[in-house]
Amino acid sequence: MAAETTIVVLGAGINGAAIARELTLSGVGVIVVDGDDIAAGATAWSTRLIHGGLRYLEYGEVGLVRESLVERNRLARLAPHLVRRLPFYLPVQGRWGGLWAAAARLVGCESLARAWQGRHGRGSWTVGIGLSLYDLLAAGAGWPRHRMVRAGRGCLPLIDDRAFPFAGLYDDAQLLFPERFTVELLVDARDIAAAEGTRFEVATHREVQFGHDGVLRVGPSAASGPFEVRPDAIINATGAWVDRTLAAVFSGDAGATGRRLMGGTKGSHLVVRCPSLRAALADYGVYAEAADGRPVFVLPFGPELVLVGTTDIPFSGDPAEARTDEAEIGYLLAAVARLFPTVALRRDQVQQHYCGVRPLPFVSGDARSPAGVTRRHLIVRHDDASLPLWSIVGGKLTTCRSLAETVAATVLAAVGLPVRGTSRERPLPGACGGASRDAVVSACRDLAEQAGVPRADAGTVAEQTAGLFGSRAAAVWQSGRGLAALGGPAALGCPAPLGGLIRGVGLPRAAVGFCVREEWATSLDDLMERRLMLSFHERLSRESIADVAESLVAAGGLPPDHVAAAVDGYVARLEERYGRRVPRASDGPGSAGGTN
Ligand SMILES: Cc1cc2nc3c(=O)[nH]c(=O)nc-3n(C[C@H](O)[C@H](O)[C@H](O)COP(=O)(O)OP(=O)(O)OC[C@H]3O[C@@H](n4cnc5c(N)ncnc54)[C@H](O)[C@@H]3O)c2cc1C
Repeated sequence: MAAETTIVVLGAGINGAAIARELTLSGVGVIVVDGDDIAAGATAWSTRLIHGGLRYLEYGEVGLVRESLVERNRLARLAPHLVRRLPFYLPVQGRWGGLWAAAARLVGCESLARAWQGRHGRGSWTVGIGLSLYDLLAAGAGWPRHRMVRAGRGCLPLIDDRAFPFAGLYDDAQLLFPERFTVELLVDARDIAAAEGTRFEVATHREVQFGHDGVLRVGPSAASGPFEVRPDAIINATGAWVDRTLAAVFSGDAGATGRRLMGGTKGSHLVVRCPSLRAALADYGVYAEAADGRPVFVLPFGPELVLVGTTDIPFSGDPAEARTDEAEIGYLLAAVARLFPTVALRRDQVQQHYCGVRPLPFVSGDARSPAGVTRRHLIVRHDDASLPLWSIVGGKLTTCRSLAETVAATVLAAVGLPVRGTSRERPLPGACGGASRDAVVSACRDLAEQAGVPRADAGTVAEQTAGLFGSRAAAVWQSGRGLAALGGPAALGCPAPLGGLIRGVGLPRAAVGFCVREEWATSLDDLMERRLMLSFHERLSRESIADVAESLVAAGGLPPDHVAAAVDGYVARLEERYGRRVPRASDGPGSAGGTN
């Protein structure tokens, strides 16, 4: 029997994960290696929208917008627990502005477009034409068509209606947690590989080195030892790190290096806790222009928070080092103040910020502004490399699946294998198997009550678990029961009750073990930021972090005497990286109350 073909995917961002899943559908062995964790790059630093990209129409990217809209509709159908439709409000200053600027942009004259755009931005005619084209390109999915309205009427966002007397209303979608979407892509890939009987591995927190002998050496992590593999092909899906990966991993292979592919820009977001701003949104996403004409989103981020983004600043350093600076915070606060002058958003209402680098293609010279660089992806083959090697440049969350389909077809053809399956109609594992979200939440509530969660808290807990895990939430609760049957927390060296909840945040402690066993979580950072999404939780406290750390001890992921240091380290990371200060539960209202 012929040896199994093995393809290595470097990078477990949304693109690497989608490519890995697509390849498993064709029956090849896949190993995914990440230097950090799953979704630790741009995937986590995005605006979290699954959208057609209305503004790309101005740059003539009609094909990209069409592809994005088709994928938006598909992902909302195949991952309804994570991708949700969101109505958008696009405030407009006048009637006629922006027509000439849009025309200039369409023919690639960005500087002329900026000059013509002047102080008045896009008018209702320009916006109406753009939204009509958007409707046309999205045709067939049954989403509502756009409407142009006068501001200040009905239940609409409370935008300054003297400055912005008109608005366009249209629908796009929000993916609150692309981190969880990426994890589910890999969970699905593992399930597919198990059914196919093929090799599938995810190795995180690893360094890799490709040798002259054709062997890829994967270094050890804190949790596992090193290993070697002789791949048939490698896909470099390391996002904004693509050039750095080529230089570091393939340093001995002149055919793989030399050409600059990446020209990223840094983008920052604010997570704001301001009840009056959250209420003023009226559950719409607002898509507007800042004073300098750059696009700005003000979005509901769960029931209490607001996400504001983003900036777009050329960045050439290590993407892992990109941080939001005070100038960006001031710029985004000013953009909100311009739209919502009565809200008076304060600096101290910024709960945290985050920053990442867009993996955009390198463009020589400065012919286009950062906003004008294409968001289309490129699949670059390194023809002179010593094994079949491709780099993925660019892309969006929205098009991860279609990108993966193209990459899989390209790579399989190159290694002489057919495409045997596609993800076009394949739901993600938590997609509720046809059950409605309400049914999943109701099942979670029953499970929570059976696990001893007080009735008054069970609803919140059920919403939270279903919001993270979809229909897999039932398995989270059941895994808690399974562990308890093994002898309970004491037998596992865990001082905290497993059946209980993580203090302040309404998630079962059993979710920690579930993420360690089922979702490749190995550290406190992985759990807080990319599995349980607690780093954003408005009621996060030191006690919540300690509960996660203690549950990680129970799951075998942390020595018991490391808990205090791990909690201190994580609290420091939150402050350094996200500007977030975490109080003790006892430090005051809003800090850590809620479900216990
Ligand atoms: C500010 C901002 C806003 C955005 N908003 C949106 C949006 O609203 N909607 C949308 O559709 N798209 C958006 N995007 C684009 C989207 O986020 C990215 O295109 C997408 O996440 C890229 O995914 P990726 O998997 O290619 O890269 P990444 O998510 O960056 O993943 C790359 C992975 O490679 C790993 N890695 C790095 N070096 C190595 C190495 N040597 N070996 C192994 N692994 C390595 C990293 O740890 C990382 O996990 C936005 C991007 C940014 C930055």
